[in-house]
Amino acid sequence: MRKVLITGAAGFLGSHLCDRFIKEGFHVIGMDNLITGDIKNIEHLFKLKQFEFYNHDVTKFVHVPGKLDYILHFASPASPIDYLKIPIQTLKVGSLGTHNLLGLAKEKGSRILIASTSEVYGDPLVHPQSEEYYGNVNTIGPRGVYDEAKRFQESITMAYHTYHGLDTRIARIFNTYGPRMRLNDGRVVPAFIGQALRGENLTIFGNGLQTRSFCYIDDQVEGIYKLLFSDYVYPVNIGNPDEITIKEFAEEVVRLTGTDQKVIYKPLPTDDPLQRQPDISKAKEILGWEPKIGRSEGMKLTLDYFKAFSKEELRKSEH
Ligand code: NAD
Ligand code: UDP
Repeated sequence: MRKVLITGAAGFLGSHLCDRFIKEGFHVIGMDNLITGDIKNIEHLFKLKQFEFYNHDVTKFVHVPGKLDYILHFASPASPIDYLKIPIQTLKVGSLGTHNLLGLAKEKGSRILIASTSEVYGDPLVHPQSEEYYGNVNTIGPRGVYDEAKRFQESITMAYHTYHGLDTRIARIFNTYGPRMRLNDGRVVPAFIGQALRGENLTIFGNGLQTRSFCYIDDQVEGIYKLLFSDYVYPVNIGNPDEITIKEFAEEVVRLTGTDQKVIYKPLPTDDPLQRQPDISKAKEILGWEPKIGRSEGMKLTLDYFKAFSKEELRKSEH
């Protein structure tokens, strides 16, 4: 049986990847220190013989017994409020954590895919963003801890590929949403849905004219899966190019939830990118992949997940 190690397994993306690899018949080792994740996301897998869980901080030496065919390194805080709260851990998991996992891949002869991000493009001066764009990151700004950790992660991964011949893949993931996001992780999708369900005003940061392009989780997982099994070692953007302003998105959430919440405006966080849209030509050409689930369908599925929360859970998720 092929064996895969997934770090960040108790998080949003990691838990969906665990499900996918279990479904494909792999033996899955999930690893997580639960700093931003939730064990509930993978509890349903604990009864399976095919699944193991290691509660471990990947910035410390990583060891797993036996053979290991694949590693997917997804451990890292991913929402701005998380990585602003734990900036040093964010830098360490992208740097030391990635180094440990590359070392493990080298020892075991595993193929390794790392979760990079559209944040490597920073506040982009080129639109849409293709993989050739080098980015515009403020190294010492508050978001720099995440962006630079991910840029270092890409560099060390390429260095292991070039100098040690390691079999590597780099996914540049754009804003992804869906069930199992943490209601209080501060990202705009759970933030707006949580506010609407609690009967609060939706908080738009800045004038709301900044854009994002949201990819539904099932499409993202499919893109990552295809990239892992492709031969392509350079970074590939995985995201949905359907771009929308945050103001329009707030209006969509109000309509979708059938509430009559108002929007209120709060200051735009420092270095918040003004425009973001993936150019996915490479993913289309190399992986034969493009997203299939539109925002209206994906948001309905996401809302259904959050609607099942009790009033108490919703209240606790206020921040
Ligand atoms: P998440 O916070 O839900 O999951 C991250 C998981 O990593 C959590 O379970 C957390 O406990 C774990 N973790 C963090 N530091 C760790 C450490 N030192 N050791 C072990 N485990 C640790 O976030 P997510 O949205 O699922 O993001 C997963 C990955 O995908 C991250 O690497 C993130 O940078 C990347 N990514 C996500 C998005 C997105 O839109 N969701 C976009 C771009 C990139
Ligand atoms: N945002 C907002 N209100 C919120 C949370 C986020 O207007 O309550 C904005 C945020 O400033 C950014 C966009 O929504 O412009 C996406 O934010 P998110 O944190 O989801 O992702 P990222 O900025 O990392 O792309």
